[in-house]
Amino acid sequence: MGRVLVILTAAAAVVACSVATVMVRRRIKRRRKWRKVVGLLKELEESFETPLGRLRQMVDAIAVEMQAGLVSEGGSKLKMLLTFVDDLPNGSERGTYYALHLGGSYFRIIRVHLGGQRSSLEVQDIERHSIPTSLLNSTSEVLFDFLASSLQRFIEKEGHESISSQDVKRELAFTFSFPVKQTSLSSGVLIKWTKGFAISEMAGEDIAECLQGAVDRRGLDIHVAALVNDTVGALSYGHYHDPDTIAAVVFGTGSNACYLERTDAIIKCQNPRTTSGSMVVNMEWGNFWSSRLPRTSYDIELDAESLNSNDMGFEKMIGGMYLGDIVRRIILRMSQESDIFGPISSILSTPFVLRTNSVSAMHEDDTPELHEVATILKHLGVPKVPLKVRKLVVKICDVVTRRAARLAAAGISGILKKLGRDGSVGEGRRRSSDKQMMRRTVVAVEGGLYSNYRMFREYMDEALRDILGEDVARQVVIKAMEDGSSIGSALLLASSHSVRTISNI
Ligand code: ADP
Ligand code: MG
Repeated sequence: MGRVLVILTAAAAVVACSVATVMVRRRIKRRRKWRKVVGLLKELEESFETPLGRLRQMVDAIAVEMQAGLVSEGGSKLKMLLTFVDDLPNGSERGTYYALHLGGSYFRIIRVHLGGQRSSLEVQDIERHSIPTSLLNSTSEVLFDFLASSLQRFIEKEGHESISSQDVKRELAFTFSFPVKQTSLSSGVLIKWTKGFAISEMAGEDIAECLQGAVDRRGLDIHVAALVNDTVGALSYGHYHDPDTIAAVVFGTGSNACYLERTDAIIKCQNPRTTSGSMVVNMEWGNFWSSRLPRTSYDIELDAESLNSNDMGFEKMIGGMYLGDIVRRIILRMSQESDIFGPISSILSTPFVLRTNSVSAMHEDDTPELHEVATILKHLGVPKVPLKVRKLVVKICDVVTRRAARLAAAGISGILKKLGRDGSVGEGRRRSSDKQMMRRTVVAVEGGLYSNYRMFREYMDEALRDILGEDVARQVVIKAMEDGSSIGSALLLASSHSVRTISNI
């Protein structure tokens, strides 16, 4: 009996020992894995870093590229497109105008009435719809017929108070957020599609004519009287309310900027035929490229797998269409290199399955247990992860969005530098913090990424202050505007009916 007891006790001790050993080994393994993850995170942070010195180099590079793009056609990756807009709205416009805005994710239709004073601007109707994904790789006929049918429904709502009863055609501005080589204020040909659009055989087509054709086929009483880039619409809206507005930037599905340039600086255009001495230039900054951009393996893979590889490198780092996919790629790589996310989720391998609005929801999740993060990860096929892994996901969102916002700030500062409004007195001279020297400068900003993502805005503001310095940054007003691109295009069309000059440059 005694012997049996001794054997049993010894066996129990051996089992206990083995269990303890297994547990210790597991813990060591877990710690080792976590250390690997911490290493991966550190690598990630380093490769996404945008120190101030690097941002300043980017500011210089943008100003230089702007200049090169103004000197000759094809002189820079920045196309610096002419817009034929030399006359921005100022509040005195009158009449009823329409705008149809084709964005990267949404299209909008609006009707505005202008009574000759800023305060009398009335947005009488506005509709906002998602663009059906089936349109993205359809045909020109399908796309424009869809837009014309949406316009038809919009004007049918007007009923008896319809403008057509006044025996004039409805005047419509077509706000178009893809690169176009304008040939006049009312015409221009598509250079290329971006932001996931891939409608074949449209490059070189006159976009305004395409819409007018579809509208005419339906017998609608609409004249497509202006073709306006979305940034130019936003600038028009900004200028309407505040004449100090000299540039506009869109941070939506994609990203782009425009600004007011002196015509004598647009060297590639021999005969700009403006009365004001200035013209709005559409930078198409999404295509900006510099060796100073912090390009990571994630950016390279995203670009290689995109419909427009080797193109729109800047947009792919800051556009709302792409931030979610960068975050997804990072989570996927981490889940492949460690098992902290559990078995590799096939959903997570699907391009664009993680949208940027989910990134902001996770980033700004203020619940102690990060419930929002848990819910979104669950949708991505990652059902149960501990809190520290959820915190890691928030950190990834932070790293990606902070880089985007700081690059965006460098872009804006590049424009200010080109215009001599960044506080530097000039080549080779000292920086001036003399407030007398600095004019108030307003930059209109529009787009779903900017308006819905607080952390993006905060990081961008912080970086602007870092780059420009507090004194100069105080003179630079970033003005957010909702639906500015659409409303502004209608205002621009209205103002094109009266000739005035821009005296603000
Ligand atoms: P469009 O690009 O069609 O003109 P918007 O300017 O409204 O449309 O931008 C839409 C884009 O904004 C979305 O594709 C998305 O990338 C981004 N976005 C929208 N909502 C959010 C959000 N809550 N957080 C972060 N990004 C958002
Ligand atoms: Mg837009």
